[in-house]
Amino acid sequence: MECEVVSGARSPPGGIVLESELFLLHGLLAPSPLAGWVVLAPRRHARWWWELDERELREIGPLAARVLRAQRSALGAVHGYALALGDVLHHMHLHLVPRFASTPERLHGRGAFGASPADMLSESELARAASLLRAALSERA
Ligand SMILES: [Zn+2]
Repeated sequence: MECEVVSGARSPPGGIVLESELFLLHGLLAPSPLAGWVVLAPRRHARWWWELDERELREIGPLAARVLRAQRSALGAVHGYALALGDVLHHMHLHLVPRFASTPERLHGRGAFGASPADMLSESELARAASLLRAALSERA
């Protein structure tokens, strides 16, 4: 899936949130229970962290921190998780998952991956969060 997003073959709700020379930031391709849950992935195909080159490694930390800050400032998140699992998709990606004051405990942390269909937000809610994040991130670019 990541390969398809970076190649432009698939577009998540809300589109691409941020593009840098080395990375893409986009919303989940699957239904999402949390507004502003985004995925950071290298544009170049790298299977996992150990395949990132020096430039990518230097960029990913500051970029992730910028996104986590934007989730707080633009969306009102009270916390942000950074989760990388890598069992399913073999294109390195980092989930940056906001937690809001209103987020039920079952969706905290990795619980977000176990959300039920009733938890999922509409495409318009996801697109709205994506555009708020995009605006906050472009201010600082
Ligand atoms: Zn790939």
